[in-house]
Amino acid sequence: MKNSLLQTTIVGSLPKPAWLAEPKKLWAPWLLQDEALTEGMQDAVRLVLRDQESAGIDIVGDGEQTRRHFVTTLIENLDGVDFANKKTVRIRNRYDADVPMVVGPVARTRPVFAEHAKFLRSATDRPVKFTLPGPMTMVDTLYDGYYKSREKLAREFAKVLNAEARELEALGINVIQFDEPAFNVFMDEVRDWGIETLEAAAAGLKCKTAVHICYGYGIKANNDWKKTLGSEWRQYESTFPLLAKSKIDQVSLECANSHVPLELVELLRGKDIMVGAIDVASDEIETPEQVAKILRAALKYVAPEKLYPCTNCGMVPLAREVARGKLKALGAGAALVRKELAGG
Ligand SMILES: [Zn+2]
Repeated sequence: MKNSLLQTTIVGSLPKPAWLAEPKKLWAPWLLQDEALTEGMQDAVRLVLRDQESAGIDIVGDGEQTRRHFVTTLIENLDGVDFANKKTVRIRNRYDADVPMVVGPVARTRPVFAEHAKFLRSATDRPVKFTLPGPMTMVDTLYDGYYKSREKLAREFAKVLNAEARELEALGINVIQFDEPAFNVFMDEVRDWGIETLEAAAAGLKCKTAVHICYGYGIKANNDWKKTLGSEWRQYESTFPLLAKSKIDQVSLECANSHVPLELVELLRGKDIMVGAIDVASDEIETPEQVAKILRAALKYVAPEKLYPCTNCGMVPLAREVARGKLKALGAGAALVRKELAGG
């Protein structure tokens, strides 16, 4: 059954089965190798697709079952980056991580996600979304010992992303989403070159393009950071007017249990809005009514055909049964509001 209004979707990641990678852990290493790993990833994709379909999610994804991390899995496949000698850097001004180092010109010499995208396309009849990191967030996950300029490196990454995205589109992917959590931290850079490099990454695509901007997973460094943001989170206020003028079709934002004033959505007039109605930083499973409440509130600022009920962020750090419960709540909450919109 195809829903024309309030098409539900998820931001990206879902928990992996315990036989594929250690649960409730970010960057968890694979527990399988070689062909067994490929088969395991595909089995995991089939499982998350069925979970999404049975929960009533309309635009589905692979739950990032085929990557260890939303940024580094792409970078690992590029030339010019040294993974053997890691450097410690501060990520999004928040926490230290050992990251790979840019040592020469970055280049994509082979397809990265094509095989995974092909499999995803073949495994479901629903519209499919594929996620890629955005250029600024990629820059912020590396030590740059070569370009010595975040902007220059971002422009190079945009070229890499565009080549990858065009290939994904040709394989039948319906929505390509760039994840840019860094857009909530480096607002001056967003204005100076962030929007431009994001648009360069999406240049020439005819499928739907999206950007996801969030306040991160429920890890301690993020929770501590959120405590410093005050009673109203207005980071989107400077970025949304710029995105409204951009060529990006859809914007995903965090609304469930966040301190984002919903009226900021109005700054995105004309865009599709993916309203985060599921909190990924809590194990508590929302009720359909809680989801519906957020969607009704968002409908004051966005037309129903432009509202896409969604999660706040990826659900990889959660237990599988919690994530499944949250998917069901999202589907059921959207169904409630759809019924109201249909007049009963
Ligand atoms: Zn996110």
